[in-house]
Amino acid sequence: MAKEPVAKPDVLFALSRASRCHGCDAKLNVDEIVRLNKKDDEKEAFCLRCSALSEMELLRSGNALVTRLAKKYSTTHFVEMKWSEVWKTYERQGLLVEREALRKAREEAGQKQ
Ligand SMILES: [Zn+2]
Repeated sequence: MAKEPVAKPDVLFALSRASRCHGCDAKLNVDEIVRLNKKDDEKEAFCLRCSALSEMELLRSGNALVTRLAKKYSTTHFVEMKWSEVWKTYERQGLLVEREALRKAREEAGQKQ
């Protein structure tokens, strides 16, 4: 698949219920990370492949050092949010960074500990 420059939002969402990708009709499971496109009152979900973001990997919140390094090495990053039925609000889950950047960050953080 050719990688076209797409307008990248800086927030991605983890699904709180199963859905289907608006682009390729792939089944999307709960907790799968998608890009949401607001169209009129509808929200269209696109899988990471359709969004040309399949190289991104989720880094859960918690490790400040790895987070800082991954942000530094990744050319782009996204905040991952998930709808909480309990709190009726979006909660931050972590950060999506390039897989290679995350590997490098973990390696470097490991060396420092
Ligand atoms: Zn798709």
